[in-house]
Amino acid sequence: MGDETRGVLDELGFRFDPDDLYLQVITNVLDTAELLDLPRHLRLILAQPTNELIVHFPVLMDDGSYRLYKGYRVQHNDILGPYKGGIRYHAGVSLDHVKALAVLMTMKCALMRLPLGGGKGGVQVDPRALSPDELRRLTRRFISGIGTFIGPHVDVPAPDVGTNAQIMAWMADTYVNTGGDRFAGRAVVTGKPIEMGGAPGREQATGQGLVEVLRCLVPSFGVDLTEATYAVVGYGNVGSWVARLLDRDGATLRSVLDHTGAIGDEDGLDAWELARHVAATGGVAGFPGATAIDTDEFWRSDVDVMIPAALEQMITEREAGLIRAGIVAEGANAPTTPAGERVLADRGIAVLPAILCNAGGVTVSYHEWRQNLAAETTRLDDIDGWLRETMQAACERVLAVAKRHDCDLRTAAYADALDHLATVYAQRGIFP
Ligand code: NAD
Repeated sequence: MGDETRGVLDELGFRFDPDDLYLQVITNVLDTAELLDLPRHLRLILAQPTNELIVHFPVLMDDGSYRLYKGYRVQHNDILGPYKGGIRYHAGVSLDHVKALAVLMTMKCALMRLPLGGGKGGVQVDPRALSPDELRRLTRRFISGIGTFIGPHVDVPAPDVGTNAQIMAWMADTYVNTGGDRFAGRAVVTGKPIEMGGAPGREQATGQGLVEVLRCLVPSFGVDLTEATYAVVGYGNVGSWVARLLDRDGATLRSVLDHTGAIGDEDGLDAWELARHVAATGGVAGFPGATAIDTDEFWRSDVDVMIPAALEQMITEREAGLIRAGIVAEGANAPTTPAGERVLADRGIAVLPAILCNAGGVTVSYHEWRQNLAAETTRLDDIDGWLRETMQAACERVLAVAKRHDCDLRTAAYADALDHLATVYAQRGIFP
């Protein structure tokens, strides 16, 4: 940690804990700001979210009882535009995690040059344990709880782990029925079903963006994507779409790990069949034809690229010591701990950073938001072209910054994002 970073954290009263996700993320950002010699007031502003909201709300269960749930919405920074970021339903959701993910959204939108800020939200719940009716009641009650905090011109949530297009539809409907604009109000969330104003291609956009990043960057590491082998952690939205789309490039999926176990096949797993199996059974375990492997064996997979696409902090020093791939492409947010990253660097393993790799989702979400506000629709071809160009431009910027500062790609991605934020702060000034 740089001296100036420590000074900022001390001034704000942070007690350093190396396992704390928020501190891991913000230290990375502040160290990069130090490298760029950004003004101190800017570092102070970015080190804390603008707003943090916690709500507790009761939900009627199917058996007639009530349960009390805890939900969060954190708004990190809106200098570039309305706060933007997903809502997660997961038992492990905490304020610390939501804050860290909100910072990453600020950095991601800046890197992608989108006119959007950074936010994140979540509810501490295991959505798999609820019936569809319970899930709908929970969603409606949560959105009514944070309703005055969000809005198409203020803060625009999206899907994340444990949430999907159906949940986004309930969120938009609740917002509209609790005082939001009757028609433009649906722009309050993105990732909705297409019939409700969703953008075609939004479901696969994050995976598609990651594939674009791989196409741009892996050749510089001497890997030919058409002959590459890879492993994926998590076979949900991001992981399964990366695999299904990489299949078309000719790459071979050798192993997958999710919350139900790990599977492998030297000759390649059928990404599309596996997606159908996960949709039917809830996880990769028991996929016909594949061999069940243990977790360590998964991390030691003999592949060119390892794609973590599940949760945060999954690649610690231990996993980093097992990985044999030459490239880690971060589909998930913050999947690599700083200690894990040091081990990867020592072992010569390159990391393609999350704020670049998984930016495809928010890039297409931006399209959805824009088309809702203008009451328009967009064709899939137009969105595909825009996504490809935007991802390629961001990759080129990151490569150029890495060359200029002679730094790793994560530092380069943060530096490019911070440079953009600093320019806009200098133009706008600090109110009043
Ligand atoms: P998802 O809920 O669709 O899938 C999550 C996956 O993680 C599941 O396959 C689950 O089995 C797996 N998982 C959970 N716990 C695990 C464990 N302990 N070990 C191994 N696997 C585990 O979520 P998603 O939308 O695919 O999001 C995955 C990651 O990508 C998250 O970090 C999310 O913030 C990030 N992300 C998602 C989007 C998006 O558009 N969905 C956009 C940007 C970033």
